[in-house]
Order: sequence, then structure tokens, then C-alpha cells
Amino acid sequence: MSTPTLDPARGNGEQLGKLSAEAASTGTARSDERIQPEERVQPDRVPAWEDQAPIHLLWINAGLSCDGDSVALTAATQPSIEEIVLGALPGLPRVDVHWPLIDFDSGPEQGADTFIEWYRKAERGELDPFVLVIEGSVANEEIKPEGYWTGFGIEPATGQPVTLTTWLDRLAPKALAVVAAGTCATYGGIHAMAGNPTGAMGVPDYLGWDWKSAAGIPIVCVPGCPIQPDNLSETLVYLLYQASGQAPMIPLDDQLRPRWLFGSTVHDGCDRAGYYEEGNFARTYGTEECLVKLGCWGPVVKCNVPKRGWMNGLGGCPNVGGICIACTMPGFPDRFMPFMDEPPGSRVSSAASQIYGRVITNLRRITLHTADKEPKWRRRGDELLTGYRP
Ligand code: SF4
Ligand code: SF4
Ligand code: SF4
Repeated sequence: MSTPTLDPARGNGEQLGKLSAEAASTGTARSDERIQPEERVQPDRVPAWEDQAPIHLLWINAGLSCDGDSVALTAATQPSIEEIVLGALPGLPRVDVHWPLIDFDSGPEQGADTFIEWYRKAERGELDPFVLVIEGSVANEEIKPEGYWTGFGIEPATGQPVTLTTWLDRLAPKALAVVAAGTCATYGGIHAMAGNPTGAMGVPDYLGWDWKSAAGIPIVCVPGCPIQPDNLSETLVYLLYQASGQAPMIPLDDQLRPRWLFGSTVHDGCDRAGYYEEGNFARTYGTEECLVKLGCWGPVVKCNVPKRGWMNGLGGCPNVGGICIACTMPGFPDRFMPFMDEPPGSRVSSAASQIYGRVITNLRRITLHTADKEPKWRRRGDELLTGYRP
């Protein structure tokens, strides 16, 4: 999806980057207020879409990853990736996507060397601005001196693979924003569970939870295993509008998730909530009652999938008969296993739900607080703390 030329991004791209940095430094980059009319970019300051130098979107899927989030993004409809790339959204800056899944540059005609050159340009400071998207968890290369866990492209000088941690060290300081796409990249996910040998972690565990880009933007985490397609496309669009001065600082919660996407629980949006309130629980799959006794974690999980659906508004885990296994949560999967068991507390709370609504709500808040945290072993260092036994 790249433009055919490899000219460095200049002109409007630099202007857009500066606008975002200005927004952060002058206090216009607020997380809790709407942008004021006088702060908006005036139309005559923004060139026509086709005349703009693009904002580059550099996607690295070389974490410990199944590429499920790349695949998911192809199903986005609100907006679709095609709408983002082809400039179909009013006011959206031009974007040039370097995405291994479908990039023409990684195909047979131009080849992988052409594709990886965009990342080297970013490293040399020749792409400005760019947004860095990471897919997959960050393996701990400090515990692998005899080799490496994951690589993305080859280092010309040595002929050796360039690890994800090396790319993060090189590119994150130059990026306008860093987006962690999917639960692996945000919090470590499945690869970072207890007993794993890689010491895998999320991007915030590697860069630091307080890390901010040069433009003052924290790491943006969009969890999900896989990610809900529109949650990612919408977040990218928000950042592009922010980069062009048309939106205030992206509002994130304490786990660095976009607040408007992850502010409610699965239970809040579930079609079966009426059955829950009536104490009407399914004992087997294929019925329409509440699934809590089959293992649904919906009451303590922050996710908008039941409201938003999976593709084009359709589907949505418990709405269509599947228990919520908490795949968006920082503690996933360890804190929610074994998946098919009745979640702790559900027996008491569901039995009492018809009478003690407020009590239940408070109990849920306590559970939500403890379930919304990562296990302690997901962090940098030369020690493997996962409990792995060869
Ligand atoms: Fe795959 Fe899930 Fe990890 Fe995404 S979060 S890379 S879908 S395992
Ligand atoms: Fe809540 Fe899950 Fe029951 Fe839906 S199925 S009402 S999310 S407990
Ligand atoms: Fe994951 Fe639960 Fe959301 Fe489904 S409803 S996507 S299992 S967090």
C-alpha cells in the first residue's frame, strides 16, 4: 500500500508533526476536554489531500504473534483500512501504510529489501512523521545471548536478523506515536503466560508505562485477541486527526487503552444481561440464557465487542453464544484460566443478583480492579521470572 517512490516525507508531513508536538507542549493536548474552535487547524493551512506528503504508518508484526490482528484489520468497516488509505474520510491526512500483510513492496516485484528500506529511512530520521504499530509480544532478548527470539529484516553489516527490541530502541524515539495492536503487544498475551521461556512482555513493559513520544503521546494500547477490527482502525484515525491538529490528546485509561472504547464491561453491552438480572443461567451451550455459569467473565472485563459486534456490527462473543474469556485484559490469560470454569464469585453474586444489585456492583468493581493488572513477571531484565523449567 506504499506509494511507488521512496522520497523522504517532507513538507506537510513535517508541519503535521510539529502541530502535534505544539499541541502537546502548549497544553492544547488535553486528555479530558474537547478541542476548542480556535485550536483547530484552519482549512487554508492544510493542502489538498493529493498534494500532502503522507504520514507514514510503519507496522512491525515481528513480535511473538500469530498475525491475527493484521488479519482482523482487513475486516474493519467503521472505518475500513481502504477508506483510511484512499483518503475517503473528510480532513484525514494522507497516510502511507507499510504493512507486511499486504504491502506491494514485500511482493515479488520489489521484494523484501524495498519494504524494509522504509524502516531504515525512519531509523535515519528521513521519515517524519510516522506512527509505529507493533503487533505481537516483545520477547526478552536479554535472556537469549546465544541467539534471538524474533527478527524483522536483516542487518546489512552483519547479515543477522534485527530483533524487535532493536527496532523499538531505534524507532520509538523518532515516532510520532507508538500503537500496540492486540493483547500480545499491549500486555504480553498468550506468549507471556506463566512458565513461558521467552520472558515475553507488552510494549509498555519494554518501553516503560510512562513512556511518551517526542510529541508527548503515551503508548496507545488497543488490546484484543484478536483485536476488534474497528477498534484499531478508529484508533489509527484518531491519531491521524490528532497529528493534524484536528483532535485533542487521545484519552487513555490507566492501562493505556482508549477510554471511549474500553470504558464499559462486556456485561454492560451483553444481550443476555436481562437473563442475568433475572437469575436465569444457561447450563449448556446453545440456549439464550446468561453464560456466567459456563465460565463467562463478562462482568469484570473491559471490552466493547458485544456492543460493537465483530464485523460490520455482527457477532460479539456472548451475544452469539460464546463465553467471554477476557482476551482484552492485562491479566489474560493467567488470571482467567481455566476458561471453561465458573468464574470465582459468580456463584455468590449471581444468586444474589436479583436482590443485591448495588452490593454486586461493588463486588464486581473490586474484582475488576484485581483482574485489570498484569502479572509481575512481564518486565525487562536479564532474569527470566516466569517460572519456566526446561
Ligand atoms: Fe495473535 Fe491474539 Fe497475539 Fe493478536 S493478540 S497476535 S491475535 S495471539
Ligand atoms: Fe454478563 Fe456473560 Fe451473562 Fe452476558 S453472558 S450477561 S456478559 S455474565
Ligand atoms: Fe475477548 Fe470477551 Fe471481548 Fe470476546 S467479549 S473479544 S472474549 S474480551
